[in-house]
Amino acid sequence: MAFAHGLDSRRLMQQCDEIDALNAELQGITILKSIEVDILEDGRLDLPDSTLERLDMVVGAVHSNFNLSRAKQTERILRAMQHPCFTLLAHPTGRLLQHRAPYDIDMLSIIREAKQRGCFLELNAHPERLDLLDTHCQLAKEEGVLISINSDAHSVYDFTNLRFGIGQARRGWLEKKDVLNTRPLQQLRLLISHTMQHNSRRN
Ligand SMILES: [Zn+2]
Repeated sequence: MAFAHGLDSRRLMQQCDEIDALNAELQGITILKSIEVDILEDGRLDLPDSTLERLDMVVGAVHSNFNLSRAKQTERILRAMQHPCFTLLAHPTGRLLQHRAPYDIDMLSIIREAKQRGCFLELNAHPERLDLLDTHCQLAKEEGVLISINSDAHSVYDFTNLRFGIGQARRGWLEKKDVLNTRPLQQLRLLISHTMQHNSRRN
């Protein structure tokens, strides 16, 4: 979001150039180009398609208008997931433990859309978030949707959050094979490239 010093298209493209330059020179580390983009109230993503198409993956998330009706909130998220560049739905219920209740959504519809679309759901490992819930994890597993366990790191120290996410995933009976980011880079790249449909059109 702009007020949170979010990246606009111009700065994001600049960052992409810098990552391309680093990838050309780094040995043994690959930096993927991505952004967590706002899902607007009507389900559009808050950056132009031409910008999103340059990324390796797109993470979408709701950060505003938490009080929509269940039908509207679900429709909003489903519409975002139908965007041709959409990889991962971040912190899918939006809850902040002891601060904010989850927004009202039909999680089964969202999980089924992810299956249909070939995209993924985040299990956010921040101890205040930990959404998906364990029951959602199990539902995703049953429907064949991979979960990405993410640290929500805003600094290197936050990588220690991962263990909380792994604990939550185990409560939902997830195994290594059910988790997107247990995969080696080449497999991961292939899976996320399918969520960036402009790629398949171009190739
Ligand atoms: Zn977020």
